[in-house]
Formats: sequence, structure tokens, C-alpha cells
Amino acid sequence: MNDTIPGVEKYEVLSKEEIQGKYLAVNAVGGLRYDAGSISGYKFVIGILKLGLEKGLNLQTNTPVTSIEPLSSPSSHRWSVVTPRGSISARTCILACNGYAAHLYPRLQGVIVPLRGQMSAQRPGAGLPYGGSLPTTYSFIYADGYEYMIPRPEGSKFAGDICIGGKCRATIALGLANNANNMWNRRLG
Ligand SMILES: Cc1cc2nc3c(=O)[nH]c(=O)nc-3n(C[C@H](O)[C@H](O)[C@H](O)COP(=O)(O)OP(=O)(O)OC[C@H]3O[C@@H](n4cnc5c(N)ncnc54)[C@H](O)[C@@H]3O)c2cc1C
Repeated sequence: MNDTIPGVEKYEVLSKEEIQGKYLAVNAVGGLRYDAGSISGYKFVIGILKLGLEKGLNLQTNTPVTSIEPLSSPSSHRWSVVTPRGSISARTCILACNGYAAHLYPRLQGVIVPLRGQMSAQRPGAGLPYGGSLPTTYSFIYADGYEYMIPRPEGSKFAGDICIGGKCRATIALGLANNANNMWNRRLG
């Protein structure tokens, strides 16, 4: 496998002592060290949209699709996509609305369900070991979930801030019980 997948050979198994001593993960039983990367999701999406627009993409923002209806008359266009700003007919529809797909395609009810994930950005004090931020990204894997810490890189806005996410295991029903997008779970604070 090491010959075919670049980077696999860089995985290193770390002892409990090294993880606890060097990486300060006090209850860890062991760890893996490997090359990791992170990108700005916002810049990534904006970049893809720009490329699409250059190639003729018709982008309609702030336009929720309220229903998708099959067209009855014989035509190469099979679907009517209804929005508050009018309808368009389409040969093919791709639903890319994530946890809310079942709203438009009810057969997905109970199959795709919204799950609320949460993360926070913490501004560390200068007293933090390693000069006020983290020297590396972290993933913590537990039997029942995961958490992660990612420092914002040099040169980015708010460089050094630590983005901490995960914590589904600390939420009721692992986040499935509440799908409100405009709230956060105070138990995680
Ligand atoms: C707090 C949090 C932290 C995360 N951190 C990471 C991370 O560090 N790394 C990582 O890889 N992933 C992370 N994820 C997961 C990642 O965000 C998702 O996997 C990814 O965004 C899914 O992309 P998507 O395009 O399928 O759906 P989404 O990004 O959810 O996009 C779906 C879009 O559809 C739109 N939509 C929904 N219904 C309709 C409708 N009826 N009409 C029109 N539009 C509609 C929505 O407004 C939305 O813009 C995180 C998720 C959360 C919640």
C-alpha cells in the first residue's frame, strides 16, 4: 500500500508518553502523527462559484426551492423547479441541499436527517504553551465521537485563533434532537 498511496508512509505511531508530554493530551492512550492540511471552506466555495460563473453557470442566490414537480406534458424537460421568484423546467435536478433534501424529496424523510454540528473559535492567551497557539492540528478520537482543534494559519485573518469542533457526543441524541441552525448548545460552552 505504501507504494501506491503517497503520504501513507508518513504515519507515525506515538506512545502515550509522547502524546501526553509533547502534545499535552493528558488522557490520551496513544496517537498517530501524519501530514494534514486544511483549507478555508468559504474561499473554496467562492472559488468554485467563480469558475462556474466563468463557464456560464446561472447562479440565483437567496432563492429557496419550495418544491420540485414532475412535468406532465411530454417534453425533454421532466421537472418544474418552483421558487418564490418563478419556476424553471429542467431535464435533470441534482439535490445538493444536504440535511434538508427530504423537504423537497419526501421519500428521503428519515433517511437524510439534519444533524447540528458546532464549532467555536478561541483566542488563546500568550500563556498557552508553544507561544500562544498550536504547533499542529489535533483530532481527538473517542469510542463515541471525535473533536478537533485547528489553528488559523499565519497570514490569515485572526491567525493563531484555535477552531474547536465536534462535541456531538456531549449533545442530546448526538445533535439529532435539535436541528435549529440559529442556536448553539450552551452545554458546550
Ligand atoms: C459546525 C460545523 C463544522 C464543520 N467543520 C468541518 C470541517 O472542519 N471540515 C469539513 O470537511 N467539514 C466540516 N463540516 C461539514 C461540512 O460543512 C459539510 O459536510 C459540507 O458543508 C456539506 O456540503 P454540502 O454542499 O453537501 O451541503 P451544505 O454546505 O449544507 O449546502 C447545502 C446548501 O443548500 C441550501 N439549501 C437547502 N435547502 C434548500 C432549498 N430548498 N432551496 C435552495 N437551497 C437550499 C442551503 O442553504 C445550503 O447553502 C462542518 C459542519 C458543521 C455544521
